[in-house]
Amino acid sequence: KQEILRTENLKKYFRVKGGHTLKAVDGISLTLSKGESLGLVGESGCGKSTLGRTIIRIYDPTEGKIFLNGQDISGKSTKKTRRDLAKKVQMIFQDPYACLNPRMTVSDIIAEGWDMRKLYTKEERKRKIIELLNLVGLNEEHANRFPHEFSGGQRQRIGIARALSMEPDIIICDEPISALDVSIQAQVMNLLVKLQKTLDLSYIFIAHDLSMVRYISDYVAVMYLGTVVEYASNKELYRNPKHPYTKALFSAIPVPNPKVEKNRSQIALKGELPSPIHAPEGCKFCTRCAYAKDICKKQPPEMKEIGNGHKVACHLF
Ligand code: SF4
Ligand code: MG
Repeated sequence: KQEILRTENLKKYFRVKGGHTLKAVDGISLTLSKGESLGLVGESGCGKSTLGRTIIRIYDPTEGKIFLNGQDISGKSTKKTRRDLAKKVQMIFQDPYACLNPRMTVSDIIAEGWDMRKLYTKEERKRKIIELLNLVGLNEEHANRFPHEFSGGQRQRIGIARALSMEPDIIICDEPISALDVSIQAQVMNLLVKLQKTLDLSYIFIAHDLSMVRYISDYVAVMYLGTVVEYASNKELYRNPKHPYTKALFSAIPVPNPKVEKNRSQIALKGELPSPIHAPEGCKFCTRCAYAKDICKKQPPEMKEIGNGHKVACHLF
């Protein structure tokens, strides 16, 4: 497997009111291989969107490194570096409407990256727009309409077409179906799976619940307050979750057939997610963990491999 993206101890801190520091991403090391999907799961506020935005260099990292095809891209970002990166990594967002310019036609939205770079002739541009529209399940008639004329699912398709226009290797999908009607979610999910196969794309798929990433991820990283607490292949994680937080997340998913998944332990999540500005010392999960011991409050657990590439950060292992 060819590594395409790697982060090393990546951190993104924000200065907030009162001289505090918000450690949104607090030391994340992950890899993504060509043609594979990595699911990033955690409650809102765990730093998964910030991680995505740091990788795509909307933010400069506070510390740590990002390697794309082995090349360090973590230096200060400029207009030029962002423009170069746009050809390799794109992002699609939870609310496609918020990031589609309401005054631009679908054609102009899809072609914006090309137009900025003066890439194609008028005929090529038109042909390529139609190709992209067809690829995402829309058609030529949609090209000259405006975003408000579309349904939520169609807007997400436009967002996907725009992301594909630069022929990226990686797409960071930030909760792309969470805002859509349940009936539309599966359609957009199927489209993403189909595109991944036909275009050999790599995905980082961000979601707040484990059932959403199950269908699309080869590997899954569970995040809590800016750190990864568990990482495993899809099969291994769903069959054999280890971290108390991961188990609690599983308990939150309704069990469709209790006989099939009867050994899934039921652990309720205690209390609220602490503010990332005042994260607990030691293990960040210790305030909500049913298994917390003395050491958990003092010492952050290190990530340990427990076999099969399965990694857990917890003093129980
Ligand atoms: Fe719970 Fe301790 Fe493991 Fe943290 S390190 S998840 S507090 S048992
Ligand atoms: Mg988010």
